[in-house]
Amino acid sequence: MAGLACAAQLRAAGVSVSVFDKGRRPGGRMSTRAVDDRLSFDHGCQYFSANDPIFERQVQLWIDAGVASVWSGNVADLEDGRITRKQTARARYVGVPEMASVCSHLATKVDVRGGVDVNEAQRMDNKWNLLNDKGTPLGQFDAVIVATPPAQAEKLISRSSYLLAVVQSVKMSSCWTVMLAFQKRVGCSFEAAVVHNSPLSWIARNGSKTGRINTTDCWVGQARAAWSAQRLEASRDEIAAELADEFCKAVGISAKPNYLAGHRWKYAIPSTPLDKQCLFDDTLNVGLCGDWCLGNRVEAAWLSGTAAADRVLSRVAKTAG
Ligand SMILES: Cc1cc2nc3c(=O)[nH]c(=O)nc-3n(C[C@H](O)[C@H](O)[C@H](O)COP(=O)(O)OP(=O)(O)OC[C@H]3O[C@@H](n4cnc5c(N)ncnc54)[C@H](O)[C@@H]3O)c2cc1C
Repeated sequence: MAGLACAAQLRAAGVSVSVFDKGRRPGGRMSTRAVDDRLSFDHGCQYFSANDPIFERQVQLWIDAGVASVWSGNVADLEDGRITRKQTARARYVGVPEMASVCSHLATKVDVRGGVDVNEAQRMDNKWNLLNDKGTPLGQFDAVIVATPPAQAEKLISRSSYLLAVVQSVKMSSCWTVMLAFQKRVGCSFEAAVVHNSPLSWIARNGSKTGRINTTDCWVGQARAAWSAQRLEASRDEIAAELADEFCKAVGISAKPNYLAGHRWKYAIPSTPLDKQCLFDDTLNVGLCGDWCLGNRVEAAWLSGTAAADRVLSRVAKTAG
């Protein structure tokens, strides 16, 4: 989100910009795992909200473009199979027909090269040469904005001691995620729940989100940060089985899922965001953006990305002047 928001704003201002993403499809932590026609899971970001009026306007534009919608799913508080409280209604938005759609939409506006792992940024003659993980050159650029989680940014900004010190100060928590599908619809009166007294902290029925075509009852469950940290190196299958049991316990069912998979988000949620819009080293023309600069949500990622675009545009204006 941050990288695409930055690139789309630069492109709109007439700057030539290329986006390299090691993911095959745009999305990052807003990705969707599509197994087949009947099974898909928003296995990262679950929904987003808008507090900043500028981001609110952006969300409305996505709604108008048909790539986002309000999600009016019923969210409960759940403890040992019992609903303890219904969460108060607030505007929750989702990508349509999948969470990743918002990023795919932004990606139509810029030159995005997916499946490219940028491994090195070399500084030569006041330009940046980027290389992929096989050492193949990706091009020469005046400025570079790195829009990855901080630990993944280190190798690309190591020339800047200022940026390096900052990224090393930011911590991200991990999140184990379970994806489950049931042949027979799970009988419950909610579409999502904040789970208490469990390794799981959140569960959501994917098919309850607007425009999903799932014919099977697909659910996503997300584990608590502390539990995920303890099990960080466990196997995906082991975690999936454990969290499936916890899911059934939390919802109060005994049905077995007919599809089960686990996914580890090593860098899931910033636990110590910087409260800065973005970072830029003027001497080297390299900058950083991402949710972790400003907060820990999609809104923060978008705001950070657009702030990074503004920094580049003000540099361009200064150089031209
Ligand atoms: C499990 C989970 C649940 C969440 N739930 C919510 C929620 O309900 N609401 C909410 O608002 N937010 C939620 N979030 C947070 C939200 O997803 C993030 O805040 C937001 O997506 C971050 O966007 P970003 O652009 O900053 O980073 P990312 O989405 O992480 O994007 C970074 C990109 O960099 C790419 N990359 C990394 N290294 C390289 C490299 N070397 N070369 C090329 N590309 C590279 C990655 O492929 C990725 O596409 C959740 C996140 C997780 C993981």
